[in-house]
Amino acid sequence: MESCIFCKIVNKEIPSSIVYEDDVCMAFLDLSQATKGHTLVISKKHYECLLDVDDETLAHVMKVAKAIAKSYQNKLHAKGFNFLSNAYEVAGQAVPHFHVHIIPRYDENDPISFNFKDNSDIYPLEEVIKEIR
Ligand code: 5GP
Ligand code: ZN
Repeated sequence: MESCIFCKIVNKEIPSSIVYEDDVCMAFLDLSQATKGHTLVISKKHYECLLDVDDETLAHVMKVAKAIAKSYQNKLHAKGFNFLSNAYEVAGQAVPHFHVHIIPRYDENDPISFNFKDNSDIYPLEEVIKEIR
C-alpha cells in the first residue's frame, strides 16, 4: 500500500533498525522505545490489523515474536514481556498495518503500565456471558 509507513519500511524506502527479516515478516525497533528493545513484528504483506491476517501468517508472526523475545532474555536481560496488537483506531492502533509489539519488561519501574481496572460491577459476568453465548 503506497501511503503506508510500514509498507515503506518493508520496501526499504525508509530506514528502520531491523532485528529480523524473512519472506513473510519483518521485525524492527519501535521508534518510541517504550522500554529498551521495544520491537514491532509485522507481516510483509499489508493487512490492516490482526483480524484481517490469514492464520498461517499470523502463526508465523507470533512464532517469530516468541523467538525474538527469547533472544532478548539473553541479549537484553529482559525479565518479562508484553505482547500487544492494537486492532483499529478505537483500540489505539495508529498505524493501520498489522503489527505485534514486543515490549520487554525489566522491573516494576518500567515507564509503561497496563491498568486493568475492575469494572465487573458495571459489566456483571453473568450478563456479559448471555450476550456472548
Ligand atoms: P500502534 O499504536 O499502531 O499499535 O503502534 C504503532 C507504533 O509504530 C508506535 O509505537 C510508533 O512508535 C511506531 N512507529 C510509527 N512510525 C514508525 C516508524 O516510522 N518507524 C518505526 N520504527 N516505528 C514507528
Ligand atoms: Zn502497509
